[in-house]
Amino acid sequence: MFENAQQFRDWSKLQEAIDEASEIPPCTNYPDAWFPEHSYENLTEANMAIKMCKTQCPVMTECAIYGIKWEKDGIWGGLTARERIRIRNRNEIKVPRKVRVVERV
Ligand code: SF4
Repeated sequence: MFENAQQFRDWSKLQEAIDEASEIPPCTNYPDAWFPEHSYENLTEANMAIKMCKTQCPVMTECAIYGIKWEKDGIWGGLTARERIRIRNRNEIKVPRKVRVVERV
């Protein structure tokens, strides 16, 4: 499950951030959408997952950092596997900016 002790520490740090967050990350309730390459032919759902990361997740930054460092599959911190590889290869950790949602009444 974990490649080494450092991955376990980084995972624990992400879990702490989730525990302390005011809201539950959206992927908790609908995890398949975050792994489109395993279970989905349709990219619409993956795009929806990315949008939810960027607009609704209280731990997007922490998740992106963890995902860039350790995860090969799925969507982490609003980034696809390909985007994370690109960031890793450039050796620069650039986390996506959180999008502010303004509700209209
Ligand atoms: S940023 Fe991470 S924790 Fe948040 S919804 Fe996306 S995959 Fe889940």
